[in-house]
Amino acid sequence: MKNMRLLVKPLVTRLLKGNLLSLLALVTVVFGVVACSEKTTQLETTKTKVVENHLHDNTPPKVSKWTKSPTVLVFSKTNEWRHNEGIAAADLHFVRLAQKFNYGIFTTTNGAIFNDLDLKKFDVVVFNNATGDVLSKEQEQSFERWLTNGGAWIGLHGSGDHSQKDWQWYQSTLIGPKFIGHPNNPHLQEAKVVNLAAEHPVMKGIPASWMAFDEWYSFDGVPQSYGLTPLAGVDESTYVAVLNIDEFPAKGDLRMGSKPEQHPIIWSKCIGKGRAVYSALGHHDRVYDDKIYSQLLDNAFTWVTQINGANSLGCEK
Ligand SMILES: [Zn+2]
Repeated sequence: MKNMRLLVKPLVTRLLKGNLLSLLALVTVVFGVVACSEKTTQLETTKTKVVENHLHDNTPPKVSKWTKSPTVLVFSKTNEWRHNEGIAAADLHFVRLAQKFNYGIFTTTNGAIFNDLDLKKFDVVVFNNATGDVLSKEQEQSFERWLTNGGAWIGLHGSGDHSQKDWQWYQSTLIGPKFIGHPNNPHLQEAKVVNLAAEHPVMKGIPASWMAFDEWYSFDGVPQSYGLTPLAGVDESTYVAVLNIDEFPAKGDLRMGSKPEQHPIIWSKCIGKGRAVYSALGHHDRVYDDKIYSQLLDNAFTWVTQINGANSLGCEK
């Protein structure tokens, strides 16, 4: 009997362990499926998390001496809204774009890289949905010097959401009009984007209009008022431009005008010897699958970097 118990006990323990493991595996699978399906449905509607972190960085990341030259710096520090999907997709897009144009690439969320010495290592800076007060005064001034002395800048979506309002040069010279809100119900919508500057190198090969799926920003004015050149606008008759969230001052009607010229969403500027393009598109990763938008970003890249010629259209002589 004693021997029997000695034999049975390990068997029961093994069975129990086996069942427990099976149970655990089952629970994991069930939760995995639930979490996965939630994530899938959220793709259409999720609003990104607010990250309340107003810290500035003091120690720059080490840029390897092996980094290829010329090089792109992609910066995605967020002290406010973090566009998780949009940031990841834009990072990947610019890795591919850099490869295509034989550039190196360095991605970081560390704002301390904005110092005179490190910025010299880069030929293009992309603000990939950088939001909030991400740079110290000194870091901001380093970037201003770098850009006006012949740098190249591309700003994506959240980088123009007015959350960097304490940096006056950035808001009024680089971005221009103030972001006032975006529709929330429905949030992401398909709308018609219209080419406003067919002769501009950034819009070369881009059709007169195309449909895009995104979160559509509205602004308190047009970029022309700030000396910026509108390149594309959105046709408000093709989506619902209404916001119903209390914390936004522009709650309600977000329409800027019946003509796409009255509602620009992509624009450019020559700043000193530097060039800049801002695009309000890119809330979601889906826009980076769009061949037309990819072409537009390629064009923006070759224009801001002056690969297509220092005398190319788009800057006053
Ligand atoms: Zn967004």
